[in-house]
Amino acid sequence: MLVASMNPCPCGYFNHPTRACVCSPGMVQKYLNRISGPLLDRIDLHIEVIPVPFNKLSETPPAESSKEIRKRVIEARKIQAERFKNVKGVFCNAQMTSKLMNKYAGLEENSRQILKTAMEKLDLSARAYDRILKVSRTIADLEGAENIQPNHVAEAIQYRSLDKGTWGN
Ligand SMILES: [Zn+2]
Repeated sequence: MLVASMNPCPCGYFNHPTRACVCSPGMVQKYLNRISGPLLDRIDLHIEVIPVPFNKLSETPPAESSKEIRKRVIEARKIQAERFKNVKGVFCNAQMTSKLMNKYAGLEENSRQILKTAMEKLDLSARAYDRILKVSRTIADLEGAENIQPNHVAEAIQYRSLDKGTWGN
């Protein structure tokens, strides 16, 4: 598993809640372009983490605990183990071939429309398309949903925030 982090822009304050970023949009885009598109394509989840002010930290009610999340992940893994039990060398959604994706990550018309619009608007690559379908399948599994629903696809699209044309604009 690869986990990596980077600054949002050369000065570090792009999208900061209280401090102003001094970079021009062109500079922000150029900074991101130092990471190659094909590399970004291969990273499943892009998450923007903005600083939380101290008083917000102390007043935030406790979120779902790691223990509860772990339970959900184990359940989702079980679903995937069962799904691929007869497929040699495949244990989880990320490993699906296009044939397996056709079988298990098919979209209904309304979900397909959401993805089509995002692909066009965000100028996403074919590789990003595959990632979105696989991540959608996993989000559906985490909810215990049999079919991928529009909200699963919409969430998966949000995890592509660093793809071409969306960051820094
Ligand atoms: Zn900046």
